[in-house]
Amino acid sequence: MAGRNHLYIPGPTNVPNEILNAMHIPMEDHRSPVFPNLLKPLLHDLKKIFKTEAGQAFVFPATGTAGWEIALTNTLNPGDKVLIYRFGQFSHLWAEMAKRLGFDVEIHQETWGKGIPLDRLEQRLKEDKQHEIKAVLATHNETATGVTSDIGGVRNALDAASHPALLFVDGVSSIASIDFRMDEWAVDGAISGSQKGFMLPAGGAFLAFSQKALKAAETSVYPRCFLDLKDQVNSNKDGYTPYTPALPILYGLRKALDMLLEEGLENVYARHYRLAEGTRKAIAAWGMKLCAQPGFESNTVSAVVVPEGKDARAVISTAFSKYNISLGAGLSELSGKVFRIGHVGDMNDVSMLGAIAGVEMALLDNGFTIKPGSGVAAAIEYYRSTAAV
Ligand SMILES: *Cc1c(COP(=O)(O)O)cnc(C)c1O
Repeated sequence: MAGRNHLYIPGPTNVPNEILNAMHIPMEDHRSPVFPNLLKPLLHDLKKIFKTEAGQAFVFPATGTAGWEIALTNTLNPGDKVLIYRFGQFSHLWAEMAKRLGFDVEIHQETWGKGIPLDRLEQRLKEDKQHEIKAVLATHNETATGVTSDIGGVRNALDAASHPALLFVDGVSSIASIDFRMDEWAVDGAISGSQKGFMLPAGGAFLAFSQKALKAAETSVYPRCFLDLKDQVNSNKDGYTPYTPALPILYGLRKALDMLLEEGLENVYARHYRLAEGTRKAIAAWGMKLCAQPGFESNTVSAVVVPEGKDARAVISTAFSKYNISLGAGLSELSGKVFRIGHVGDMNDVSMLGAIAGVEMALLDNGFTIKPGSGVAAAIEYYRSTAAV
């Protein structure tokens, strides 16, 4: 099919040409005397995206899933109790991983469409007088449902209970696109990956750990090898890595950081809000609803619920085969019930309008009773009236 396939999924996201070009490099010796000139400033600037000065940033040749494992296995001990709220496929997978790794996982079910219930979290932490809970696992942006939780609120709950548990945050689909403040929220482990807000291909797990977490890593006896933080700390201090780095990811990350910092993080967040808000106006104009309940709407992905009797998979299939655009599927228990529109990474008003128009055509083709042009009209009015001049 002529023309490019547009990715309107919440990861992997569209990679800007500047980043593709920056990654197109010959290989070089990662033990050379000049390699630290690349890695040291990279790790320094990566901290700015996490908004941490006190913490330390890390890059592993891996993905976000490895980031979950790095946080758990480097700081905790076998059998330690961890607390997690489960409200979508990603928080579900993180909880399952913690079980498989032999931790004592206290899972609290929450409605898919809501985020972390702060009042109940605070109450539970207050009950835990013996401080048996060693870590709270918080999914900042649940990509399956398009739900954003309040991480500052999670920190407040820990503080209100004077609870010393480590706070680990999955920010794979929020960091570099939705407001995230590692130091201010005293996050101990922030986990992200290359292929969402960072606009890179998959292959980089980007993390930052607090001094408290790094101290816990000193005494943790959990067996680990490839994902050992201490090996990274030892090599990174001289500007090297414990094993061969994914060089194109590092060069791509250099470009991505330059682009994000040049735009300014606050502007990046504001852009994602606008793109999301225009998409939400379109969804409302179609008379459809988000999976996210009010107050939890994500600025990187919208999961749209289809009415009873309709199959979201048909919409996604038509969008792909007839219009050459990729939408996100409903995951696990949401399969067929939602389709997802990603508005994360290298996107602007007109790219979102392409997504909205494509979805609208696919909805009409599948017999949804919507007014042709209604979503596009609502979005263009919003984008026109809020565009920076
Ligand atoms: C994409 C994603 C992950 C998994 O990342 P991989 O890079 O696929 O391992 C984890 N958590 C969230 C919230 C995600 O969106």
